[in-house]
Amino acid sequence: MEQTPLLRRLGNWLGVSASAEAGDADIESRTSQLAEESAQQLASQQLLDDVSAFLLQHRLPVNNETLAFAHDLITDSEPRLSGLVNRRLRENEPLTGEWIAEVLGKAANDDARVMSTLRQRLEKSITDFTRTTKDARTATSDYKTALRSHVDELDEVQHAGAVIQELATVAKAMLDRTQEIEAQMVRSERETKSLHRRLDEARRNAEMDHLTGLPNRRAFENLLDSEFAAARVSQDQLCVAFCDIDKFKLINDLHGHDAGDRVLKLVARTLSEISDDRCHVARHGGEEFVVLFRGKSIKEAFDTLDATRDALAARRLVNRANDTPFGQVSFSGGIADIFAHRDPRAALKAADEALYAAKAQGRNRIVIAGNSTAVLAA
Ligand code: GH3
Ligand code: MG
Ligand code: MG
Repeated sequence: MEQTPLLRRLGNWLGVSASAEAGDADIESRTSQLAEESAQQLASQQLLDDVSAFLLQHRLPVNNETLAFAHDLITDSEPRLSGLVNRRLRENEPLTGEWIAEVLGKAANDDARVMSTLRQRLEKSITDFTRTTKDARTATSDYKTALRSHVDELDEVQHAGAVIQELATVAKAMLDRTQEIEAQMVRSERETKSLHRRLDEARRNAEMDHLTGLPNRRAFENLLDSEFAAARVSQDQLCVAFCDIDKFKLINDLHGHDAGDRVLKLVARTLSEISDDRCHVARHGGEEFVVLFRGKSIKEAFDTLDATRDALAARRLVNRANDTPFGQVSFSGGIADIFAHRDPRAALKAADEALYAAKAQGRNRIVIAGNSTAVLAA
């Protein structure tokens, strides 16, 4: 019997005949793409299983370091690890969290760096996974459309005989399976999107000071690096200031820690009034703040900060819990021109020294780095 185009296409599609038309080749490539993508998902699942098995086998705690270690060991992304583990086991020594921390060369309190590495890896996995599921879903959907048109054509063939009936049953089963995969892909896509959102939120939390709502020291250090690089290119001036609330311990001692927190928040709000896209304020820690001025000369930055200092010091604040006066709340500051120093860290150090000069000169003032000795000597 001579094959009709439909039968030939069906034959090609199910691998019965060697000759393939362009459309069929397309379907074949989509099938192999789907297979590849399922394999990638299986590989992710396998990796998770292997990581869990490793941690359970060695009775290791689940934390940033052991997870990162297990990941690197199993994926062999750190080839030296398997040698170290084998030697340790040969010596009949257990794999412990402390040993892993030592191997990773990280101090126990270096959580932030480990977290950030882990986060970067996780972000990459999620991005890759999102792309894979999206591609797979598109491929599945195209494939399903093609499959359906073939199945519909098949239904139109009258008296097709047992072989064709059999082919039709197989094709319908494939269609069902494809629809199932497509639904799974939609779910995966939704889950990865929610993971992304949670990761973004975690990143924001990790870079924010929860008391004042300002960026924290870590965020500031990243910002300092990026603004320094950008200002170098655009040849903008860049200044950094350290500010520290005066006699803050006394406020805590006299009014209590909660009142101290409210004063801290007020100083943060006051300082953030000068912030914009070229001026960044962050809480450096305790009762210390840092300000980064871009596009302002040291004199202009000084004037801006000094006006804020003056405005705050002029207020007479009252503890709203019991109406007792806080009296004057002020801060001192030290400010440095970043490009007048070797690098941003050296400028920060100079600003810190200028701050201490401001304290030594009686507080409630701003001192420009480099001028402090002259003023002190005067
Ligand atoms: P100086 O003018 O020399 O800076 O004196 P100071 O009292 O401000 O400095 P000192 O370093 O002696 O004290 C800082 C105090 O800030 C001690 C610490 O308990 C308090 N502090 C740091 N962080 C917080 C916080 O988040 N909330 C409150 N309420 N107090 C804090
Ligand atoms: Mg201090
Ligand atoms: Mg202080």
